[in-house]
Amino acid sequence: MNLKLLCLKSQIGSPHIIIGSNKCVRRTLVREISKNGERFYVCEACGIIYKEKSWATKCEDYCTKHGACSLEIISHAVN
Ligand SMILES: [Zn+2]
Repeated sequence: MNLKLLCLKSQIGSPHIIIGSNKCVRRTLVREISKNGERFYVCEACGIIYKEKSWATKCEDYCTKHGACSLEIISHAVN
């Protein structure tokens, strides 16, 4: 088992990690945090915080695919 191994789906969409001989899971870096009773989502690739999980996921997808952040996505960040 090699967690760093990416499966073929990584080439056509979001990154996938092979977890078994013929099993793979979508790699998610988005982490949930709560601040003052509110829930936020952090892109673990770049550390930027979003209020909506969908933006954090988009950021994570972009960051892992391009190795850089998208200014358009970042404009939706909390901080
Ligand atoms: Zn990001």
